[in-house]
Formats: sequence, structure tokens, C-alpha cells
Amino acid sequence: MTDTSRVEQHPTYSFVIPVYNEEEGLPELYRRLSVLMDQLDGPSEAIMVDDGSHDSSYPRMLELHALDQRFKVVHFSRNFGKEVAVSAGLDLATGDAVVLLDADLQDPPELVIEMAVRWREGYDMIYARRDRRLDETWFKRMSARLFYRTLRRISDVDVPVDVGDFRLIDRRALDAFRAMRERNRYVRGMFGWIGFRQTSVSYVRQGRFAGTTKYSIPKMVRLAFDGIISFSTAPLRMVLQIGFLVSIFSFVAGIAAIVIKLSGMYAISGWASITVLMSFIGGVQLTVLGVVGEYVGRIYDEVKQRPLYLVRELRGFGALDRAPNQLFTQLAQRRSEESAALMNAP
Ligand code: UDP
Ligand code: MG
Repeated sequence: MTDTSRVEQHPTYSFVIPVYNEEEGLPELYRRLSVLMDQLDGPSEAIMVDDGSHDSSYPRMLELHALDQRFKVVHFSRNFGKEVAVSAGLDLATGDAVVLLDADLQDPPELVIEMAVRWREGYDMIYARRDRRLDETWFKRMSARLFYRTLRRISDVDVPVDVGDFRLIDRRALDAFRAMRERNRYVRGMFGWIGFRQTSVSYVRQGRFAGTTKYSIPKMVRLAFDGIISFSTAPLRMVLQIGFLVSIFSFVAGIAAIVIKLSGMYAISGWASITVLMSFIGGVQLTVLGVVGEYVGRIYDEVKQRPLYLVRELRGFGALDRAPNQLFTQLAQRRSEESAALMNAP
């Protein structure tokens, strides 16, 4: 294939799709997405990011690319996680509007038509709000609900409740997002943080078309921690308060012990109470240290300044296909131009 196919049309819409072991669902994804792409009011591209799948997702994606040049493929060197896969797709997207979409068809692509209407009205970000969730376990629904509400209460940013990554983003907002290179990424929170004119369209979250969820419970907990710790220092404040309360309590207990001793009321040696107190305070100290450690660990991650992801192969990106690692040089260049442009913006 020649590069001319790539430069022929500047896409209006870019779809960014993270893919991790989704072989059964890909043909149906292609079918529904390509129908939608034909219906949209401008040319579009779909960037599928293979997040180190172990099944045949990658060869299938290459087949799709051979079949339809609008479908482009990014192949990671290993599994980096969905948040990073999405970020890579956003780095490479060239459309005027970019849509984040899950590969499992839980986000109905057809909703994008409605989002595009709002975008044409002038909104910078249109996110899809889950009115109802079908086919998901009671546990998943409840934990998601609890998490979003907690995060909203304690975080410094306005992360909308019951909103996933499914959204349409205007170029302007996307450039702002791209300037954020933090390593512990919680994409929907970062989009909340940048602001801009946002609105939502509501939909019913479908069950998966094929396969099973790629989010195990530890992965979900990790995402939840990233969400809370990247957007809030409330846990630090909380442990400070606990530490303070425990200090007051220990002080009072100490005075009481002295008073009891001096007044000669001592009956038993007090061994039990000392043990209990000591272990209690020890536990509190470890908890406090652990929470502080979470933040320190993340600082360590950030200062290493490693690339966010590593690409093994690119398909459909013109000259970059032959030298995928020049991607980072190019991105760095583009980022410095973008931040200059953002700073000069009126
Ligand atoms: N995904 C990914 N990397 C991962 C886990 C998931 O790229 O490590 C992708 C996955 O292929 C899907 C999307 O992220 O397109 C959402 O994952 P999933 O459907 O498993 O999450 P859920 O909808 O259950 O929250
Ligand atoms: Mg899903």
C-alpha cells in the first residue's frame, strides 16, 4: 500500500479503540463501526490500539486494515493497560473530533451520530452518560456507583457520575489533554479536570458482544486507587486527622495512667492495656505510612520520565510505519508546538 491513501483525506472523525484479547468481537465491531463511518458527515479513521493481546486480535486487526484503510493499527510491546492504550490512540488521532470507544461494543457506536450533532452545536466534549446498565453483575454496578460517588465527594475535580470513557472530544480539548503526560492516568478524571464546554447524551449500557471483561477485581481496585490518588489529597488529610485523634487519645490515656498510679488505685499491672494501646498505635502508624507511600511511589514513577508506552508496530500511519519509535520524537515536537499554541491562545 502506498502512503497516498493516507494523505488523501483529512479525517473529521477519529475513533480510538483500545483492544485487549477481543478476537471474537472484532468482526462485529468492524461491521457496526464501518456502517456508522459511512453515515457520518465527514471522512473518518479508526485507530485500534492492541494492548499486548495474547489471542489473535492483532492478526485480525491487520486483516481489517488490509480490507479497509481507514482502520489503523497500533501494536504495543506488551500490555500497558486501557488508560495508556487510549492515550496512545489519542496521541495519533488526527481528526477534528475524536471518539473513545470500547472494543466490546458495550458503547453503541450509533450514539456517535447524536454526539456529532452536539459537537456541531459547539460543545468541546460530549460524554455518554449511562442511564442503565444491562447484563453487568450486581457487584460491578454497585461498586461502580459507590466509587463514582466517593470520588466526586473527595476529589478536587468535577468527575461526572456514571460516565465511562465513551465520549467525543473536540480538537481544542484534545490538545489540552495531550499536554498532560502523567504516568498514573485516570483518563475520565483528566478529561473532567481540563474543563471546556462539556455536555452529555444518555444511553443504555449494553452487555458485552463477546468475551468476558478484561478488568479483574485487582485491576478495578488499581484503577479506583489511581482515580482517587491522582485527583485528591483527601486520603493524606484523612490520615493526618486520624493521627491527630490518636495522639490526643494517647495523651489523655497517659494522664489517666499517671493519676491512677499516684492515687494508689493500682490493682493489676496494666499489661493488657499497654499491649492493646501499643498495637493500636502501631497499626495506625503503618496505615499512615502506607498512604504516604502510595503518593511517594507515584512521585517516583513520575520522575523516572519513561515513555508512557512502547510501540512494536504501526500500520496505516504513513512514514511512521517504517520507524515506529520516531513516534516519540514527533510527539515531543508536536507537544512543544501545541503547548506554545495553547499559551498564545487568546
Ligand atoms: N482493555 C485494554 N487493556 C486492558 C484491559 C482492557 O485495552 O488491559 C480494553 C478492552 O479490550 C476493551 C476496553 O478496554 O476494549 C474495556 O475493557 P472491558 O470491557 O474489559 O472493561 P469493562 O467494560 O468490563 O469495564
Ligand atoms: Mg466492556
